[in-house]
Amino acid sequence: MKPATKFIHAGVEPDPSTGAIMTPIYQTSTYVQDGPGNNKGYEYARSQNPTRFALENAMAAIENGKHGLAFSSGVAATDAVIKLLEPGDEVIAANDMYGGTYRLFTKVFQKFGIVFKYVNMQNVKNIKPMINKKTRLIWTETPTNPLMNITDIAAVADIAKEHHVLLCVDNTFASPYLQNPLDLGADIVMHSSTKYLGGHSDVIQGALVMNDTALRDQLYFIQKSCGAVPGPQDCFLVLRGIKTLHVRMQRHCENGEKIASFLRNHKKVAKVYWPGFKDHPNHKIAKKQMRGYGGMISFELKDDSKKETKRILSATSLFALAESLGGVESLINHPATMTHASIPREERIKNGLKDSLIRLSVGIEDADDLIEDLKKAIG
Ligand SMILES: *Cc1c(COP(=O)(O)O)cnc(C)c1O
Repeated sequence: MKPATKFIHAGVEPDPSTGAIMTPIYQTSTYVQDGPGNNKGYEYARSQNPTRFALENAMAAIENGKHGLAFSSGVAATDAVIKLLEPGDEVIAANDMYGGTYRLFTKVFQKFGIVFKYVNMQNVKNIKPMINKKTRLIWTETPTNPLMNITDIAAVADIAKEHHVLLCVDNTFASPYLQNPLDLGADIVMHSSTKYLGGHSDVIQGALVMNDTALRDQLYFIQKSCGAVPGPQDCFLVLRGIKTLHVRMQRHCENGEKIASFLRNHKKVAKVYWPGFKDHPNHKIAKKQMRGYGGMISFELKDDSKKETKRILSATSLFALAESLGGVESLINHPATMTHASIPREERIKNGLKDSLIRLSVGIEDADDLIEDLKKAIG
């Protein structure tokens, strides 16, 4: 099945009781049983919900995996993966990633005795020396938030397999339209469905997709035991979002390319981070593992003063100043004070995230209007 067909049809069946083409919102907490233990496979909605199951099937289908699990947020999905581990276990994580993931690792799980080691994964050679008998998981994100660094998923997967370590890839930035980590050898794909999958800035949700059934059973056990399940209305919204993911992503990519080129040619812009540029340090790997380069762009101005950065962040009118990304509307964001403020400044600077970095989530408006908006703001 080709992607466009898959995004609309995969994993979803007409509702068995009525034939409704769109899965109904099963707004219920429990299910009536014929006799004690004699039920239709539905007992209690934290464990089973038909709207959630439809979404989980769709997620599995679009990530080319066997099993999908939906969570009440992206960080809840990450939380479930780390709960596979035990005190003393070690995780090797990318040093450039979503600030909330870093916060969860350092501020929540570290105190339960899980050890996190951070490496620059743009060069996969950095990973092997960090692996020891305690290593259980490699966590990576590509492209990274917000520096658009690219990790070679297939190469990391080879290392993970050789050392019997799980590999989980946060695929939020690429979305399943541009990249499928399971096909490249990853064990688990994680999504903040809040972003491109939902696509309309109206829902918080997360997902995991995997092939291994034993791993699915362990993660399902964590999902129902810890209880970070999404409600059926939110599942409906993400199911609906997935149906237009391919058309939205096509426009995000087109607009992203136009705006990245516009910024790069602007005399006041010092540097643009976008994996579609031929001189992006890992462009060849991006080209190999992605089907397009997306609409996430970061840039730095030649005048990197606090005053000028602040001025531009408030000067756009179409690009709204807000956290989050992947919605139909364009957003502008300041990682150092917003999305990545939970990473200590010296860590940020060490990893190349400057105080003057500005991140754009390019929406699907007309590119000319978006460029005009940036032209006026940058001056
Ligand atoms: C937003 C985001 C998350 C966290 O997801 P929530 O839905 O906000 O909990 C994780 N990873 C990346 C790359 C993100 O952009």
